[in-house]
Amino acid sequence: MKIGDIMLDTCYWQRLLRFGGYAPGEIDGVHGPCTRAAEARWSNDAACAAQEFGRFDTRSEAVLATLLPATQRVARQWLRMAVPKAQVAGVEVRLICGTRSYAEQDALYRQRPRVTHAKGGQSMHNFGLAFDFGVFCGREYLEKSLLYMSLGRLSMQLPQVTWGGTWKSLIDPAHIQLNLYPNTAAARRVFESQ
Ligand SMILES: [Zn+2]
Repeated sequence: MKIGDIMLDTCYWQRLLRFGGYAPGEIDGVHGPCTRAAEARWSNDAACAAQEFGRFDTRSEAVLATLLPATQRVARQWLRMAVPKAQVAGVEVRLICGTRSYAEQDALYRQRPRVTHAKGGQSMHNFGLAFDFGVFCGREYLEKSLLYMSLGRLSMQLPQVTWGGTWKSLIDPAHIQLNLYPNTAAARRVFESQ
């Protein structure tokens, strides 16, 4: 299944639907009527969020589509604050990363130099709850910019959000997540349950 800009197998997609509260029926890897009905409810909530908080650039929209609709609401509210602030500074802000399957997370974990301490199932990105943003000057991605701190910090105005800029080890100012669960282990238990 292509969800936004990522490929997910049907079981993973069903788990994500269930995790978001969209009841796709059994996690059986079959893209049947229950899964399609769940998908329709997901899409409806996602469309409501877009209508309420606005639409953004193509790249951000592709990332947004991979997030739980509840996370999409948060991401759109944050973008609505961040986009004009970046504009004033003469740059652009876009979402660059949303949901990752366990396999994608494992591949990231193996990268050197190290970019993450989280293996598959250990990141809120695996459950549609987290997104990362990038600062761009035209088409150029700015890896370092003071704006990561000031733009990321805006997310702290939103309820139930944790900003990676407040982390103690491996500070990650480009990371924002929705706290539907107290920690990744708790989210993982629900996501993986039968
Ligand atoms: Zn992240």
